[in-house]
Amino acid sequence: MEVLYSSTRDSGIRVKASEAILKGLPDDGGLFVPDHIPALEKSLAELSDMDYQEVAYEVMRLYLTDFTEEELKNCISNAYDSKFDTKEIAPLTHADGSYFLELFHGATIAFKDMALSILPHLMTASARKNNVKKEIVILTATSGDTGKAALSGFAGVEGTKIIVFYPKNGVSPIQELQMVTQKGENTYVVGIHGNFDDAQTGVKNIFADKELEERMDRQGYQFSSANSINIGRLVPQIVYYVYAYTRLLKEGKITEGEKINIVVPTGNFGNILAAFYAKNMGLPIHRLICASNENKVLYDFFRTGIYDKNREFALTSSPSMDILISSNLERLIYWIGENDPEKNACFMKALNGEGKYEITEGMKGQLGDFYGGYASEKETADTIRSLWDKAGYVVDTHTAVAACVYHKYLGETGDKTTAVIASTASPFKFARSVMSAIDEKYDAMADFELVDRLSGLAKVTVPPAIEEIRSAPVLHDNICGKDGMKQMVERFLKLA
Ligand SMILES: *Cc1c(COP(=O)(O)O)cnc(C)c1O
Repeated sequence: MEVLYSSTRDSGIRVKASEAILKGLPDDGGLFVPDHIPALEKSLAELSDMDYQEVAYEVMRLYLTDFTEEELKNCISNAYDSKFDTKEIAPLTHADGSYFLELFHGATIAFKDMALSILPHLMTASARKNNVKKEIVILTATSGDTGKAALSGFAGVEGTKIIVFYPKNGVSPIQELQMVTQKGENTYVVGIHGNFDDAQTGVKNIFADKELEERMDRQGYQFSSANSINIGRLVPQIVYYVYAYTRLLKEGKITEGEKINIVVPTGNFGNILAAFYAKNMGLPIHRLICASNENKVLYDFFRTGIYDKNREFALTSSPSMDILISSNLERLIYWIGENDPEKNACFMKALNGEGKYEITEGMKGQLGDFYGGYASEKETADTIRSLWDKAGYVVDTHTAVAACVYHKYLGETGDKTTAVIASTASPFKFARSVMSAIDEKYDAMADFELVDRLSGLAKVTVPPAIEEIRSAPVLHDNICGKDGMKQMVERFLKLA
């Protein structure tokens, strides 16, 4: 059955998957949502005999219904290939009583690769399908990991340019180095004086700028988004939850139909929303455990039904989760508000205005699938050390937030359901925080020395993604204020 995409703010909009991928965002400021969530067609037993690429096809074809089999299979095989350092693509590691779903085996060693290695292919295929001749300009705000993964995905892709904005003082030194050393004529990187929310708001404003859009159009350009609000990112993220379940099934760790818990370190609410979609497709999931760092807007939301971004923004050791406006939550709000675009638009208007909204009692009642928790900086560091001490397993700071919240959940509920923890970054990406957590004697060492120590400790070779930035030249040194983002775009595209 065909899936069409409407907007969370206006039910009048109905577009095909390829059109939603190309546009990124609907014109009314909402987000594209599928008009229904398709059910899995193959049985879990059948899926457990498939490899990652085959599972990806079985899941994605249900959402991207206007892609031909050949088109979609091409996208999948171009994405999930030797850029990943393991054939399994997303391996499961058992440590300290739960399963870590390692989503960091791609080119930039963070989970963003899972979607951003396929998005450029989905986008260029969508452009061909829709006879788009204009050059696609990807505009992206990043809290650290998206930027590099998007740059790496789009670099050198014919018919595209990519511009990435990141908070100048809000990403780790290694994250920044990864971005500013990016090669490729079609790549642009800008540090902004502001935080991630400023960068994201700036990008949203540029997208909404009609006058700019007309000038772009005349010059043969069209914007699109690689942010996690693009359904071309959301859909590939559903795949690995289905894959993880079927691996556990294949290895006899669970029986067919047995429920599992999923724990996700959350920022923009994209990754956990994908797990929610997987559950609604029929994947046996009991609880979706949403883990936040000290920016615990979501924890408060799940507890009280009030979303309130009016608070101090904390810079933490898990910067990819330092977010006060979780964009993808709008899709959940829309869902629990009975797909009523007007109701949803009201909440989002309040969020824009007062920075706050409260959902109705009826909607609160529909949040039973979720459990919200958070970890302080100290708890995060303690979790890294204790996982290392107990299991000899080194996790990054984001994954540690999730593991910590999972332990709080266990303590509170005693729920022993098999748990899969999304492991969203390689510890090498956050070597300083990780090593300091293990032993304070590392505090004085330089970043790359820490990388080498970590390699020795964890008995894992330094990933190429880190190895190559040791000596790579800085190719991007653009900096602007949060009001200067539009001028930057005009300059890069020679529109001014
Ligand atoms: C982006 C990111 C997250 C948060 O994912 P969302 O989909 O934004 O909730 C968590 N951990 C890492 C390492 C990330 O890069």
